[in-house]
Amino acid sequence: MDHLSLLNESQRQAVLHKEGPAMIIAGAGSGKTRVLTFRIAQLINQGVDPFNILALTFTNKAAKEMRHRIEKVIGNEAKNIWMGTFHSVFSRILRSEAEKIGYPRSFTIYDTDDSRTLIRNIVKEMNLDDKLYKPNVVLGRISSAKNKLISVKQYLNDAVIQADDEAAMRPKIGKIYEMYQSRCFRAGAMDFDDLLFQTNVLFKDHPDALNKYQNIFKYVMVDEYQDTNYSQYLITRKLAAQNRNIVVVGDDAQSIYAFRGADIQNILNFERDYPELEVFKLEQNYRSTKNIVHAANSVIKNNQAQLRKEVFTDNEQGPLIEVIKANSDNEEGKLVATTIFEEKMGNHFSYDDFAILYRTNAQSRAMEEALRRMNIKYKIIGGLSFYQRKEIKDLIAYLRLTVNPNDEQALRRVINYPKRGIGETTEQKLFVTANDTNHAVWEVVMNATEFLGNRVGTAIENFSIMIRDFARIAEHSDAFEVAKHVAKHSGIVDDLYQDKTVEGLARYENIQELLNGIKEYVDDPEKEDKSLSAFLQDIALITDADTKADDDGEFVTLMTIHSAKGLEFKNVFIVGMEENLFPSQMMLNSRADLEEERRLFYVAITRAEKKLYLTYATSRYQWGNLRACEKSRFLDEIDPKYINFKYGDSGASSGGNVFDRVLQRKSSLVAAPPRKQVASNYTPPADFKASDTSKLAAGMKVEHPKFGFGVVEKMDTQGNSTKAIINFEEVGEKTLLLSFAKLKIH
Ligand code: ATP
Ligand code: MG
Repeated sequence: MDHLSLLNESQRQAVLHKEGPAMIIAGAGSGKTRVLTFRIAQLINQGVDPFNILALTFTNKAAKEMRHRIEKVIGNEAKNIWMGTFHSVFSRILRSEAEKIGYPRSFTIYDTDDSRTLIRNIVKEMNLDDKLYKPNVVLGRISSAKNKLISVKQYLNDAVIQADDEAAMRPKIGKIYEMYQSRCFRAGAMDFDDLLFQTNVLFKDHPDALNKYQNIFKYVMVDEYQDTNYSQYLITRKLAAQNRNIVVVGDDAQSIYAFRGADIQNILNFERDYPELEVFKLEQNYRSTKNIVHAANSVIKNNQAQLRKEVFTDNEQGPLIEVIKANSDNEEGKLVATTIFEEKMGNHFSYDDFAILYRTNAQSRAMEEALRRMNIKYKIIGGLSFYQRKEIKDLIAYLRLTVNPNDEQALRRVINYPKRGIGETTEQKLFVTANDTNHAVWEVVMNATEFLGNRVGTAIENFSIMIRDFARIAEHSDAFEVAKHVAKHSGIVDDLYQDKTVEGLARYENIQELLNGIKEYVDDPEKEDKSLSAFLQDIALITDADTKADDDGEFVTLMTIHSAKGLEFKNVFIVGMEENLFPSQMMLNSRADLEEERRLFYVAITRAEKKLYLTYATSRYQWGNLRACEKSRFLDEIDPKYINFKYGDSGASSGGNVFDRVLQRKSSLVAAPPRKQVASNYTPPADFKASDTSKLAAGMKVEHPKFGFGVVEKMDTQGNSTKAIINFEEVGEKTLLLSFAKLKIH
């Protein structure tokens, strides 16, 4: 067999494994996905009908790629393999079996937005406090129940769950779950989690159906097995129960979806379920240079919870990993963009050979801006382009209304967001009345009590008063001042701040990022007109150009680390290597969380084939204020012999690495706009000793090894994390997380 020669001995054995359960838990880039692909081709070559093969991947893109590769080996027959994500394969199965479980064959699939809206309505109908029962929080709870196969009935009867909800002051979630399920059912709709949950119901309640699919799927394969949840685990276990031909591949060191219910326990369950299991070890990495592989090993060693394995490679040593320090997020973006440009020109790379990976979507803005300025084409994978995100569009809609109250699309978007009791019917009436009476909509809005009566009219008029208030401020303030005021007084910031889910925090950060962008716009000496309308025009042109130009050609890829799983690029930039960003502030509360965060870093490092860059900024805009940032602890976990690290405050001109050279040569391109200086002249005394800060309170005088002397202005505790807002004599106000800040109380 020709293609078998493209494999090493262990890979070949795994590919040739035909019957019975097998597991390949192996390091990144060791060819796990390649083995699955070749094994499928091999089975078909040996006469297995492609219709009898089920291969489950983590993304649709991965499925497409795998099918494509198999096609190269076996031709058209590859089309007949059951291949796709859990959700796509089982929604297809549910379509033909839906009636058995009481759903129409043409059931609708609700996306997250639909689900959220439905929950919002239910909360309203049940007269519950919508500040407490935030759609995302409720949906998160329901989703995690479903992924653990906890039905409504079980949820309501489970004392532990009920106690949890009561402790969280949300005792009615079970009831909402009940309503939500019955409403979905009545609407003939399933949400994403239902697709897996209902497949389990089908297989449990209809042994005939289960039996049918057990006979169809004689060979079951799962890629990225470490990130399956319980619901997915049970589906594969049931399907394989008869033939026991199941092969799973994964890497415990790359398990990064625990927050979505993925359960690393599934690997251990697998060993228990199939005692006859054959285990294959792949230890050779074919993707990356020695430096990258060794650096990744040195990082993951810091985790306690992992199956020990050492990955090696015969690939070249490769260049050292570059660690780059920038003065600001803005400069970080510029350094990345300039480096990409230089590398492409100097080493004949294509833009496709570059990926920029970040921890949170909000970080894409500074990168996007820098790439745009240098005319480098890019695409954002999984995640909307910054200006297309809902919360950004919402705030921009307010800004547009502020500048032009006749902007009807903007009005529709925010007249009832955040909620101010203006229902859809009323909204409709507004537009109908304007039409009928030949008035501009905004005129009807301003005089709503006259047109629509007191009850609904007052809410609308209050809205118009608020917008006019914004407009007055815009007359004599710059874009940033107005935007900050609008973000706060429109209620957007409050609304997002209440939502403590991962997604909620991301949206909150995005608003913050937009404000940072506006601040940078206002601070940019090249922009003469600092008004809000000038800014809006600027970004309208940007987004326009983006959507038009980006159809073909080569692109730099931008994405979160989560969506980069399984992929590889010649050159990878991991940006924002700072404490509280990566590791994320939300993941510092337990060892388990921190270890998940470290696995995420491991995933990020191991995407790189040739060259890896890690960048961080010593200051970053937050809510329009420049804040000092500390470099990530993860940087210190890499064995220094693999990196070209620039410690300390030696500045960008010492000529040590490629960035300095790039900076010097391209100084006209990368010159940062003048910025407030945040460095202090303070030098800590040699005997500096941090105090116990558990009793720290506003008004106390403190000393910090970097920022010097200051006075605590305010303490802010949320969950397990306490922040101190301190006004330092030399560097001004800083917000410090107490768990990290070294402070001496005077
Ligand atoms: P990840 O953990 O990131 O999902 P993986 O274990 O699935 O990685 P693959 O993506 O299958 O690894 O392989 C990594 C790279 O190494 C791919 O480019 C693949 O084509 C190449 N590769 C794998 N095995 C070999 C081999 N025996 N000879 C040459 N190249 C190989
Ligand atoms: Mg893979």
